[in-house]
Amino acid sequence: MESIGKVLIDKETLERRVKELGEEITEDYRGKDLLLIGILKGAVIFMSDLSKEISLPLAMDFMAVSSYGASTRSSGVVRILKDLDTEIEGKDILIVEDIVDTGLTLHYLCKNLQSRKPNSIKICCCLDKPARRKVPVDIDYVGFEIPDEYVVGYGLDYAERYRNLPYISILDPEIYKK
Ligand code: 5GP
Repeated sequence: MESIGKVLIDKETLERRVKELGEEITEDYRGKDLLLIGILKGAVIFMSDLSKEISLPLAMDFMAVSSYGASTRSSGVVRILKDLDTEIEGKDILIVEDIVDTGLTLHYLCKNLQSRKPNSIKICCCLDKPARRKVPVDIDYVGFEIPDEYVVGYGLDYAERYRNLPYISILDPEIYKK
């Protein structure tokens, strides 16, 4: 595969951390009615790996949201493109996200899901870019804190490419120009 920039988190480091997160979640959700909610499409690979490290019965569902356009950016309103297939009332929800950047997406999603009366809501993200935060988001499980760089791989794309890289890479700015 063509070189796309500096590797920030290699495959082995990702695997090790995902395993740790899975073990932590297993301890915290013993005896609960766990539903993993993956945010499409970026969280698919992380959620797939993470779910295999959680040694508990659980269910999975997915949501797809639009990235906010210029007019909605400040309000943080996110359009739901695909809603959940299941009711979440009384369930213990764990939102699984690829990366928290401004926090606008998760801030909106948490409010939206809270109104459906789950028993609990927590957030697990693979990557956290705290330098870019615009609204506070309470993240319960963080894979890695990363600097303010545009990253790809392990589910994250640039123009729909690079999601299948087994590592996280900083996108070489030269790629933008192509
Ligand atoms: P937020 O609402 O927190 O600003 O943005 C969350 C979404 O923006 C993520 O789910 C992801 O799709 C996208 N995003 C934010 N930072 C990056 C990045 O560095 N690389 C990629 N590929 N997507 C990003």
